Amino acid sequence: MSEKLLEIKKLQTKFSTRFGQVMAVRGIDFAVEKGDCIGIVGESGSGKTVTALSVMRLIEKPGMIAGGEILYRGEDLLKKSEKEMGKVRGKKIAMVFQDPTTSFNPAYTMGNQLIETIKRNMGVSRRDATGLAKEVLYSVGLPEPEKRMKQYPHELSTGMRQRVAVAMALSGEPDLLIADEPTSALDVTIQAKILKLFEKIKMEKELSMIIITHDLGVAAEACNKILIMYGGLIMESGSARDVLTNPMHPYTKGLLGSVPGINSNPSGRLNTIEGSPPDPIKPGPGCPFSERCPHAMKICGLKIPELHKTENAGLSMCWLLDEKAPRHSLEEFLGGDRA
Ligand code: SF4
Repeated sequence: MSEKLLEIKKLQTKFSTRFGQVMAVRGIDFAVEKGDCIGIVGESGSGKTVTALSVMRLIEKPGMIAGGEILYRGEDLLKKSEKEMGKVRGKKIAMVFQDPTTSFNPAYTMGNQLIETIKRNMGVSRRDATGLAKEVLYSVGLPEPEKRMKQYPHELSTGMRQRVAVAMALSGEPDLLIADEPTSALDVTIQAKILKLFEKIKMEKELSMIIITHDLGVAAEACNKILIMYGGLIMESGSARDVLTNPMHPYTKGLLGSVPGINSNPSGRLNTIEGSPPDPIKPGPGCPFSERCPHAMKICGLKIPELHKTENAGLSMCWLLDEKAPRHSLEEFLGGDRA
């Protein structure tokens, strides 16, 4: 039987700005089972990074988690003290950030930073931490690890720095690794190597993963499940194969049409999704994609659709899947019999 590692229920995260409240995450639900690699895919501003930071409880003021539950092995992380969260971060759930440059202090050698992290995470002596640091650097395939440990961050290539960042994240032996755009600062060749590395460590260390990406190609390569986020909500979710080969949501279809090689337009031309994402301060009462959706109906601008089960056993938040939704007129919806 599958084991639920993480369960997100009705998560809401918002930020106060001088223009008003930005609802970055508007009540989302999903679960990570042991062994899953979940791709959270969306454009910038869709809420995917805020979701990851919320799980880590790293939302800083003026942001706040406004509601919901984040259950790690059944315990709500939102009820834990900061001290208790210190035992979760790095040891149970670890995170790798987009830009490996910012993960390190330029004034200390890579070895020093890795050893200090291991000492803190594992509570071992400096000598033991040094041995573990070499082991974990070998495990992420960093060439000449002993030499790299003596070097400063600027002396390593971006790809090498990202490997050390992954090593650092793995050093606490977490159950769940969250990687936020882990390959977007890398060129295509290094990107492929980092994705291979994720596959290897997932197998070897029985790690579960969440990969946050704007790139459906990355999710297609690495993940077994995909969540598509837009406007702070999950538009569609399901197995990677189903979402990629038989998408049910118009936004997913639009995204797929804009990725070369995945289900793209048979003419060979890439589609673009016209229009801009919704205003996060005044998102409107309806489907967040309604202003860009080629299938939008009156009801779409008035009410957020519920998540419907798709024929693929996934979920899609779209009125098109509601047989009782009025296809055209608002009057029909307001006066009609929806029983
Ligand atoms: Fe398009 Fe309406 Fe479905 Fe939203 S609910 S994706 S606007 S058809």
